Amino acid sequence: MRAVVQRAFGGVEVLEIASVPDPPVGQGDVLLEVKAASLNRLDVIQRQGPALLPGFSLPHVAGMDVAGQVVGVGAAVTDLRRGDRVVVNPALQCGECVSCRAGDDGFCPSVRVVGGNHPGGHAELLTVPASHAYRIPAGMSYEHAAALPTGYSTAWHALVVTAGLRIGEWVMIHAAGSGVSVAAIQLAKKMGAKVVATAGSRPKLDLAERLGADVVVDNRTEDIVAVAREATGGRGVDVVFDHVGPALVQPSLYSLRPRGRFVFCGTTTGTDATFNLPYAYHFGIQLLGSDPYTYAEFEQMLDYTLAADFDPVIDSTYPLSEAADAHRRLEAGDVLGKLILVP
Ligand SMILES: [Zn+2]
Repeated sequence: MRAVVQRAFGGVEVLEIASVPDPPVGQGDVLLEVKAASLNRLDVIQRQGPALLPGFSLPHVAGMDVAGQVVGVGAAVTDLRRGDRVVVNPALQCGECVSCRAGDDGFCPSVRVVGGNHPGGHAELLTVPASHAYRIPAGMSYEHAAALPTGYSTAWHALVVTAGLRIGEWVMIHAAGSGVSVAAIQLAKKMGAKVVATAGSRPKLDLAERLGADVVVDNRTEDIVAVAREATGGRGVDVVFDHVGPALVQPSLYSLRPRGRFVFCGTTTGTDATFNLPYAYHFGIQLLGSDPYTYAEFEQMLDYTLAADFDPVIDSTYPLSEAADAHRRLEAGDVLGKLILVP
């Protein structure tokens, strides 16, 4: 099969379209003909190096979010057959360790991640456990399905599970143009929350408005704290969801109401943040790290997302041979929604 193979760490020049052996199909696996696979920040970070996930090895095939058609099934697979159209949960928990048996499998020490330390979907074929492949509705495009897994699971885990967002609450969501934030805005609105969306360009703010954000604010030219206070009658927002890293941590904390929740994941702007400790403790600010989502949550997210029939917002699609261009686009940061590779 053909795949986008990364043989070293570095710029997009380390990506090469190469012919590699077809993946083996284990007893419990399905073999997928990849129809669409989105590009995520992890793909870029692991291309640049150093390796992020334990067990990462070169050469590597990236691509966490995959939709495809089943073209082969292992002997032990009973619930999927050839021809089924599926989307993949990229977090391959072992299913056997103490964490997995307790349903706390986000912390499975043996977890493998499709496109992380398990071969990914920027390829013509992919093998995954049948337990991690889910049928998609007949009318849904593969591109649409491939835009769902990481963005919507990340947003779901942060807002629903970790922050416990409730009807009528105000939530501030940063980086409104990104796939995760598109998902977060849609989920928050569907759950009956009110949204302040921030971004650094007019097209991204326009997108946030189109998705239903109640208030949008340009974090490069406007004071997000003042806007958050004004929108909430001076009180402050109930929740801030920050997946961009340290850049907006302090103004995020100042935008919260007393005992507000700051839920965070992601390191696009770095890994080390500083903020005013006395302010945070005096106002009882809750700092909520958003840890990995679980197997059960992925199913809940997928059920909810398919029922809601969100528009996942696809910026562009690229053939596999133009994977380097897609990487360049994501690095440049002017993307609205998802970039999708189509083998
Ligand atoms: Zn496990």
